Amino acid sequence: MNLDGIHHVTAITGDAQRAIDFHVGVLGLRLVKTTVNFDAPDLYHLYMGDESGSPGSILTFFEVRGAAPGRPGAGMVNRIVWRVPTAASLDVWADRLSAAGRPVDRDEATLTSSDPEGLGIELVVASPEDGAARAAHSAGVAPRDALGGIAGVRAYSRAPEATEAVLSGGLGFVRESAGRLVTRGAERRGLYLVDAPPGGHAVQGAGTVHHVAWTAPDNEHADWIARVRQSGGHPTEVIDRQYFRSIYFHEPGGVMFEVASAGPGFAVDEAPARLGEALRLPPQYERYRDAIEERLTPLRNPRAGTAAPVMADTRGTT
Ligand code: ZN
Repeated sequence: MNLDGIHHVTAITGDAQRAIDFHVGVLGLRLVKTTVNFDAPDLYHLYMGDESGSPGSILTFFEVRGAAPGRPGAGMVNRIVWRVPTAASLDVWADRLSAAGRPVDRDEATLTSSDPEGLGIELVVASPEDGAARAAHSAGVAPRDALGGIAGVRAYSRAPEATEAVLSGGLGFVRESAGRLVTRGAERRGLYLVDAPPGGHAVQGAGTVHHVAWTAPDNEHADWIARVRQSGGHPTEVIDRQYFRSIYFHEPGGVMFEVASAGPGFAVDEAPARLGEALRLPPQYERYRDAIEERLTPLRNPRAGTAAPVMADTRGTT
C-alpha cells in the first residue's frame, strides 16, 4: 500500500485572475473547478489540471485577495516539479516562459522559473516510471510539449533527517539518495525532494504553497490514519471535500500533507465538457449563493476565448 504519486498541490494567490491567466493562458492547464474554500466560503478555490482534473495533474489556488507576497522557508514547499515529455520540450518552455516575462534558468535536465507571484516552478523530463502523462489540451501548447502532470515537490524541511526517516519508514517512500524520496503506487510515481531551508522567516503568502496532497485509493484512508499515527503524526479524520475525501497531517519537517482519494472527481457536480465554467458551491453553502457571489470578483477564463464571466448563474441546475 503506497501513495500513488501526487494528487494535487494547493497554493495561495493574491489575485485569482492573474493565477488563471498564467496557469491556463501560459502553462496550458484547464480550469476544472471554480468553487470556494470550504473552510472560508467568501474566498475562491480554483482547481486547474488536465482535461478532467485527474489526480496528479491538479494545481489548486486559494485566493486571499490582495495577500502580500509570501516567502518560502522552513516547513514549506518551495517549488512544484512538473513533467514535460522530452528535453526538446524544455527548450519550448524556456521560450514560452521568457515570452511571458518570466525568469528562466535552464540546465541540461531541468528548467526553473516562477509564476507572476513568485511561486517556484521546475520542469523535468518525464520518465516512463512516472506513469501516463495527464495533460490538458491547450490551443497555445503542442501536445508533444504539454505539461504531463506534477512529478512532485521540493520542500524546505525543518528537520530533514526526521522527514526522510518518517517518509521512508511508515509512509512507504523509498529514499533514493540524500534528499530524494520517491513513492511508487499502482499507477504513478511521486517525488518529495528535501532542500535545506534558507535563513530568515518563512512567510505564508501570495505565491507560496499551502499543502501537498498524495493519492490513495478510496478505501485506504483508515489504514493511512493508522500508519500516520504509528509514525508519530497527528492525522485528521476523513474530511469530505466534495470532489475527493481527505485526511491531513504535518510531516516532521513542518509541511502539511494531505492524502486524497482519487474519486469521485470533478464531474460529480457539472458536465465534463463544462468543468470550471460556473461557480460551484458545496450543498451547505448553496443557500448563501447570492451573498457569496456578491463578495467574489467575476473571473474570465482565457481558454474560453470570450469575455463571458466564469460565474454564470447556475441556480437550480444542481
Ligand atoms: Zn488539498
